[in-house]
Amino acid sequence: MFKRNLKSLTALMLIVLMIVSMVTGCSQQSATTQKTEQQSSEKLYNAGTYTGEGKGNNGTIKVEVTFTDAAIESIKVIEHSETAGLSDPAIERIPTKIVEGQTLKVDAVTGATNSSKGIIEAVTSCVQQAGGDVESLKSAESQAIKEEAKSIEKEADLLIVGAGGAGLTAANAAMENGVENVILIEKLASFAGASSIAGGLAGGGSKLQKSFGLTDDSPEKIFMDIMKGGEYANDPRLTWLWANEMGPTLDWLIEDMGVVIENQFSNFPEHSVQRSYYVTGKSIKMLEVLAEKFEAAGGTLMMETEAKSLIMDGDAVVGAVAVDGEGNTVNIKAEKTILATGGFGNNPDMLSEALDGVLFYGASSSTGDGINMAKDAGAELKFMDYVKMYPQGIEVEPGKGRVATVHSMQTTQNTGAIYVNKEGKRVVDENLDFVSIKNATKKQTDKIIYLVMDQKAWDKWSVLANGDENSSAAGKFTFEEQEKWFNTPDGTPIFRRGNNIEEVAKSAGIEGVALKETIDNWNKMVAAGEDSEFGREELFTLDTNGTYYIVEQKLRFATTLGGLSINENFEVLNANNEAISGLYAAGENVGGIHGYESMPTCMLSWAVTSGKLAGESVAAALNK
Ligand SMILES: Cc1cc2nc3c(=O)[nH]c(=O)nc-3n(C[C@H](O)[C@H](O)[C@H](O)COP(=O)(O)OP(=O)(O)OC[C@H]3O[C@@H](n4cnc5c(N)ncnc54)[C@H](O)[C@@H]3O)c2cc1C
Repeated sequence: MFKRNLKSLTALMLIVLMIVSMVTGCSQQSATTQKTEQQSSEKLYNAGTYTGEGKGNNGTIKVEVTFTDAAIESIKVIEHSETAGLSDPAIERIPTKIVEGQTLKVDAVTGATNSSKGIIEAVTSCVQQAGGDVESLKSAESQAIKEEAKSIEKEADLLIVGAGGAGLTAANAAMENGVENVILIEKLASFAGASSIAGGLAGGGSKLQKSFGLTDDSPEKIFMDIMKGGEYANDPRLTWLWANEMGPTLDWLIEDMGVVIENQFSNFPEHSVQRSYYVTGKSIKMLEVLAEKFEAAGGTLMMETEAKSLIMDGDAVVGAVAVDGEGNTVNIKAEKTILATGGFGNNPDMLSEALDGVLFYGASSSTGDGINMAKDAGAELKFMDYVKMYPQGIEVEPGKGRVATVHSMQTTQNTGAIYVNKEGKRVVDENLDFVSIKNATKKQTDKIIYLVMDQKAWDKWSVLANGDENSSAAGKFTFEEQEKWFNTPDGTPIFRRGNNIEEVAKSAGIEGVALKETIDNWNKMVAAGEDSEFGREELFTLDTNGTYYIVEQKLRFATTLGGLSINENFEVLNANNEAISGLYAAGENVGGIHGYESMPTCMLSWAVTSGKLAGESVAAALNK
């Protein structure tokens, strides 16, 4: 009886417990539902459509953002002057990421950082106008659902790392020569490596050169010019190979690949014959055409896929491990691997101390990845201390520069502007070639020369520096920036304006009395019709009354000349000069080809020629 009662009591308690838990569950559920409903009905914005502006790479980016009371509903980029091709991924993806995630905390698209930042800045302005909470949106985690990272296995006959001029030509040449399964991986979202921003390429011995009536170029002349340019420190075997293949490669790009190259580039004195050309639509167009051609031929192009290390089988390289844009690990097994990852100028750990104070203005992707991966596989490195250095850079952020060459050159050619050192003395004939200006800069104790301008000279420099819609971002200094830099609290970059010579000299840290003497002496020489100090021919007086301006001119570099040691088959060599099985290299990550100083238009020519030859070499090895 007692037992039966106990049983029914237990059953009763269970029923009570179930009812209690159901009620609690119900109330919890309704609390959650209520909260969500509350959230979605919470007024976060003043609904409507707003326009905002942000600063992109080439100028202003304008967006139109539509808000409901509770959400950012849509974003349209309505105006911009960003570079087609390079900025496309940012323009497509950043608005989507903001809307899907309902956050301003979105990562910039790799290779389109400034465009990404410009869009975010413009949307931020709209959020502000709509009365949204900018600060909390800047730290809000994305509401978009993220998939878990996985491991992906791939196999290829040939893996190429880096889709610049070298990688894309290697990929096409390999396929053209019968390699069937080629995978090309690129860490950026667009083809924004150094090749995309290069101006011109050499094509001595090409049909195009002959079409301009220049029939007297030859591999011998090309070889001697390049060797002389590199102070005879260049690898002669590779230089000879390149001198013979430079013209045929340009013909191949035009005829087989369909790249439009039809115009001559500047005629540089370093080339004994005019042999420089530029791609119609700029160099980025060449990369896009090559990529299309590669994919049309059946090649696999994987963007936003960054090689992290090489896969080794004993001493042989058999592919690479990469990480894709979603964070997945991609293991790519390949019989042959070509490294075409460009230079290392944007990796301070790899730069020699001699480059302290020399500004980098090259591609952000130039971080020496291929060189480091190959080094781990036993590769020998050479010429790692050498870069192609230029004068007339302005430090726009710590260690990073932009190019003031044309503005400064045209100002010194047409006004009385002069270059002085911090001791207030003139340093060079201001209108000499860039090597002379570079050497004059190198000689100074602070490795800086200063452009001294009266009002007339400044007016010229300032307008040229501001540029127009066609100006390259690497050489543009907007009026707003110029004004801002006159007033920066830490005085960087050295951009100074003063009511007179003494005042401007003092604020620039230049010896004022000496500068005054230098200017007086300059004016006397102009009056006498002869620059007895340096022999400059363009003589214009400097107005000694009125506002004066001083702008720094520092050394700068974009490309590195050091890297992997290779043989004529483009195989990477180890310290014993033996080929590392399965590993090849082309383009800027090869060291020593240019010697101590690369020739104008020869870096891009080397990238495409070495890429094509490396692709052919791999094809020959695989077809054996
Ligand atoms: C501003 C500027 C102007 C120039 N002007 C000229 C000129 O007028 N004439 C001339 O001859 N040369 C010029 N150069 C130099 C020339 O552009 C380069 O030396 C040449 O284009 C290098 O080609 P590349 O294919 O070796 O490297 P890049 O074009 O840099 O290509 C390397 C590619 O590899 C990718 N990559 C890097 N690491 C990885 C990784 N781990 N995984 C996957 N992908 C990776 C990069 O994102 C990049 O797309 C200029 C350079 C700059 C920066």
